[in-house]
Amino acid sequence: MPGARSNERPPGCVRQHLLTREKRPAVERIRPPEAIIKVGNPIFDWLLRSRLHGLVDEHFMLVRFRGRKTGRSYTLPVGRRTIDGRLGVLTNSPWRVNFRGGAPVEVILEGELQRGRAELVEDPEAMARIYANLIEEYGHEQAGRRLGIRINVDRMPTHEELVDAIERSRLSFVAIDLGEEDNSFGHAVADAEVVAPGVARLALGVVNAYLVGEAGGPWVLVDAGTPGSAERIQAEAQKRFGSGARPEAIVLTHGHADHSGSAAELSGLWGVPVYAHRSELPFLTGLSAYPPPDPTVGGPLALLSRFMPRRAIDLGEERVRELPAGTEVPGMPGWRWIHTPGHTPGHVCLWRDGDHVLLAGDALATVDADSFSGMLRRRRKISRPATPVTPDWGAAERSVREIAALRARVLAPGHGEPMEGPTLATELAAFAESFAAPEHGRYVGEPARFDERGVAWLPPAPPDPVPKAAAVLGMALLAATVAWLAAVRRRGQRRTLNLFDRVGFAERESGWRRRWDSWGWGSWARPWRATFWRRATNSWSTTAPGPRRNGLRNMARASPIRRVR
Ligand SMILES: [Zn+2]
Repeated sequence: MPGARSNERPPGCVRQHLLTREKRPAVERIRPPEAIIKVGNPIFDWLLRSRLHGLVDEHFMLVRFRGRKTGRSYTLPVGRRTIDGRLGVLTNSPWRVNFRGGAPVEVILEGELQRGRAELVEDPEAMARIYANLIEEYGHEQAGRRLGIRINVDRMPTHEELVDAIERSRLSFVAIDLGEEDNSFGHAVADAEVVAPGVARLALGVVNAYLVGEAGGPWVLVDAGTPGSAERIQAEAQKRFGSGARPEAIVLTHGHADHSGSAAELSGLWGVPVYAHRSELPFLTGLSAYPPPDPTVGGPLALLSRFMPRRAIDLGEERVRELPAGTEVPGMPGWRWIHTPGHTPGHVCLWRDGDHVLLAGDALATVDADSFSGMLRRRRKISRPATPVTPDWGAAERSVREIAALRARVLAPGHGEPMEGPTLATELAAFAESFAAPEHGRYVGEPARFDERGVAWLPPAPPDPVPKAAAVLGMALLAATVAWLAAVRRRGQRRTLNLFDRVGFAERESGWRRRWDSWGWGSWARPWRATFWRRATNSWSTTAPGPRRNGLRNMARASPIRRVR
């Protein structure tokens, strides 16, 4: 089941008289492989929010709640049940403890956002009765699969056996009563996720924007998403700051179209200026286009870059302003901007000294856009900026080192999930230490050069070995793979609720992933054999669970292929 995680006691705690002849408990919780959960959760998350939610509505919903310790908001796709007329979730995952004693919750149920209150039912006697009823309802054959348990006896388990399993695996029911609005959640239960006090992240598909400021006070929009995001951003801003709320300003980390796409529209709507670094201004006022993306650099983005628009962006000179020459950020007291060129000449990060919060823009990312699996699974991993659209790797590395030296406690990037915690600073330092430019590519040997009018000089374009037709085919394959992943889960789900207890699928998936990664477009131009083994071994390392620990390990093994001075 999505979101499930094992929480079992050591086997020594099993009472002897409840074991079967094979020395197994009569009833056991089955834990789906972590890798499957990690692949499945984002897909279900996406499906449940999309227009396709009807495909999974019958058995799944999204729950959103605030973590008691972290104060952060979490969204999880979960299996839905109705037990004794009450909506809820059967789970033994650690997140359930947030509902001990009751807590506000939001659910997206059949495509609609509803608020309510949830409480945790964990009394073993009550839970044993719930399970007994469900086993009876589903029948002995089906019950195991549909409840995520294994019944090792060929009769109805006794009440004691059920109590034993429930105590051992801490199986609980999170009961949700909808419609009981709980205002203690307040504005923060907008779609925006609070990543630090007064910093809310808007996940706008491929890119993040941030609303910075507290309700009732001045606030600022940092980055403005892709074109067409204005409505969504405005709606979230209203939820957070009240209807009719207007920011002090829009601040751009840089001007790429996925960060400035809705800036002009919102600036017009709100009547506020758009601030960017001086060196970024030529690219925002129609004076210059950004350097063309390099499709030869390899990886999924390089493929996509063949289809990226290359027009110069013009937000209108009257709107665009230069960031103040000092380091203060208009409308954001306590913050300062830091010039972090490389990805673009006028890229800035925003930094709050008080609690070490970093809005990193595209100086780095927390999703590995260089690998297909990294892109699809969106596993958290500190990664270099998007390779095809970064025209100065020397500067990019210096910027990453400067960022790492700040010792951030919260990292809120332009692409990927925010990261936080005591190990973050160490992870950033390790990343900076092992920072490597791509192996080859147009901007790797020599960077593009810029002046006050934008692009001044470009390295010559290397020949693109992949014809456009092949790139189109590749895109189609990528789309088909995503559809296939969704279909496999849909099919599995029709047969059984507990679609994740299949190791067979996990094996197929990783085999597929290795092949897919190793035959990525960028690699067609290179001797395929070397690439296959390098990529295959790299992608193996990504199958282990645990984002932080794993991030560190991957960083450590990300051997600097070609270091830039
Ligand atoms: Zn960018």
